[in-house]
Amino acid sequence: MHLPARTAAVLYDLDGTLVDHDHAARAGVDAWCSSLGLPGNQWDRWSAIERLWFTRFENGEVSHLGQRIERCREFLGRPELSDGEALELYEYYLRVYRANWRAFPDARPSLDNALAAGLKVGILTNGAAAMQQAKMEGTGLWREGMVMCATVELGSPKPRPEAYLGALDRLGVRAAETVMVGDSWANDVEGARRAGLAAIHLVREGVSREPGPSVSSLDEIVWH
Ligand SMILES: [Mg+2]
Repeated sequence: MHLPARTAAVLYDLDGTLVDHDHAARAGVDAWCSSLGLPGNQWDRWSAIERLWFTRFENGEVSHLGQRIERCREFLGRPELSDGEALELYEYYLRVYRANWRAFPDARPSLDNALAAGLKVGILTNGAAAMQQAKMEGTGLWREGMVMCATVELGSPKPRPEAYLGALDRLGVRAAETVMVGDSWANDVEGARRAGLAAIHLVREGVSREPGPSVSSLDEIVWH
């Protein structure tokens, strides 16, 4: 793993890295289906639709709000829904999703370790700032001095270089002294390295299919 000789800052991804997004999303979609009288066990389909539309958002093909609307229309098979109707339906899913946020057990110790080592700590996420801030606070992960870098507000999502550069700017550090940590190869490793940062790939389950070293837990990373 090629880490900077002197690390000044670390950028953590949020969903799938610090907070168990899949657990909350699965609870959300199960409750949503049951409230609408739809068949259960639709997690795989929901997850595939989420990936499809979120990637379109990351590619700049649809707005952040737009991907929510389209996910709702496609999942429910109701293309005729107005934007307002889709968002209103989606709100039920979001309520249950929010109620089921939980931090991965290694998240808090890793953040505390980074702060205690004197590093600047940023959260670089493609989610929207208000929701991601609430997620950090609701799971007890938010600490004084951390910087929320939500790309919806920065203007460019990961893996576009502007996302990382915007975060570096907010933290007041250079790419060469910063490490990005996250579970997405494209967004947290490849994109970060292209922007000049070091990066650590977190693969919580299974074996990495990507080249280079990875960690299976944040506990494996010790900040100095
Ligand atoms: Mg992630």
